[in-house]
Amino acid sequence: MENDSFRDRLATADKEGKRLWVYPAKPKGRLYRARTVVASFLLLLLFSGPFIKIGGQPLLLLDVLNRRFVIFGFTFWPQDFHLFVITAIAAVFFLILFTAVFGRLFCGWICPQTIFLEMVFRRIEYWIEGGPAKQRRLSASSWSVYKIYKRVLKHSVFFALSFIIGNLFLAYFTGIEKLFEIITDSPANHIAGLTGMLFFSFLFYGVFAWFREQACTLVCPYGRLQGVLIDSNSIIVAYDYNRGEPRKAMVRGEDRAGIGDCVECAACVNVCPTGIDIRNGTQLECVNCTACIDACNRTMRKIGLSEGLIRYSSEAILKGGKRLRLTGRIIIYSIALTIVLSILTYMSVNRPPVETTILRTPGMLYTVTENDQVRNLYSVKMINKSYDTIPVGLRLKAPVGGSIAMVGAEMILPPNDVIESVFFIRIPRASIFGPTTLVVVEVLNGDEVMEEITTSFMGPSGEE
Ligand code: SF4
Ligand code: SF4
Repeated sequence: MENDSFRDRLATADKEGKRLWVYPAKPKGRLYRARTVVASFLLLLLFSGPFIKIGGQPLLLLDVLNRRFVIFGFTFWPQDFHLFVITAIAAVFFLILFTAVFGRLFCGWICPQTIFLEMVFRRIEYWIEGGPAKQRRLSASSWSVYKIYKRVLKHSVFFALSFIIGNLFLAYFTGIEKLFEIITDSPANHIAGLTGMLFFSFLFYGVFAWFREQACTLVCPYGRLQGVLIDSNSIIVAYDYNRGEPRKAMVRGEDRAGIGDCVECAACVNVCPTGIDIRNGTQLECVNCTACIDACNRTMRKIGLSEGLIRYSSEAILKGGKRLRLTGRIIIYSIALTIVLSILTYMSVNRPPVETTILRTPGMLYTVTENDQVRNLYSVKMINKSYDTIPVGLRLKAPVGGSIAMVGAEMILPPNDVIESVFFIRIPRASIFGPTTLVVVEVLNGDEVMEEITTSFMGPSGEE
């Protein structure tokens, strides 16, 4: 009878639910080398990201506290919230489409969790503690000077690295200049920044030193959604059961007629960082890291069979179907994504360079001047979304006869920045016919009218 016990519990938990530590063999092979190249490039990009500037703006900045977000040098303010919503919708459609076609390719090749764990922390572990057999022996051994030395060394390096990653992560939220300020200035001036730095350092240390594959299996929402995102046409890391079964260990001189190509060497299981057996089929725990493909290819080469017993494939292909890529589902997702991206592009390109908010100062009543003019005080906030310095002026368009008097200096808008100021609107009493009059203010760049803002003006009612 088929052994289905793998369905009853996680590969990394025993019958009582206690964590089983995974000691995967060191991956080797063509795909691992390719993943190393991709991971090196992505790590380089990640670490240099906070230092890269486009037009004086960071490549990526998520300044949540000041509600300012910079993506590829473009600054987004709270006023651009609609663009964020559309971007989020586009990202969801893209994720669904990408996963429907390529399965968990992202998890194995691009996800920072996999890259840091498999390409950085795991390598350091092999370097300090040796391969899986040595690691197992060290774990099982009683505490000795040697074991303490190995463990202290490993966890010190892990924490130092987590501290660097924590700082890097923080730089994407504060900007690199602010991060240097936090590091170099008196700690008393940056309690919040230092708390964040330590929080992220301990978080990453906890994830990469202890939690590890559990983050993918138990926490990651993308991983949890795989069951609904992929279908039988999605490309996955798959064991070709048609070719591999019935599996049987190789016995020298034995005629293998009627026996599959899987020789039960367990190389694919031993190398798996999530502790599963890919021969049981698609499983939630599989992060498509491809280590089992390399391991099985090595076995196949050794025994003189063709590679690809475990390979990128799909359920449909394994069942003998064609590589049907354009399913109805994929066409619908593609159309939806194209529509959302078109809307996003149109709205981003046509974003006004300056956005102005004018508010009558709350709690202030109108005043009547000696030359019979009624005066209201306003505050103005202007956001420059362009890379140019823009000198701005305000002019009253309606009602005719009124005027604007700025309080304070001339308004020069620096690139990608905000300025605030205060001004009066004066209207002859004869032009006011009630307690509230609508006024129209023009925002000027030289003679060019960039925006027209309508706001209310308070004045005496007719009887006063
Ligand atoms: S089954 Fe293969 S691809 Fe999936 S996580 Fe394990 S080693 Fe990686
Ligand atoms: S590595 Fe290949 S041959 Fe060895 S057990 Fe896994 S599937 Fe079978």
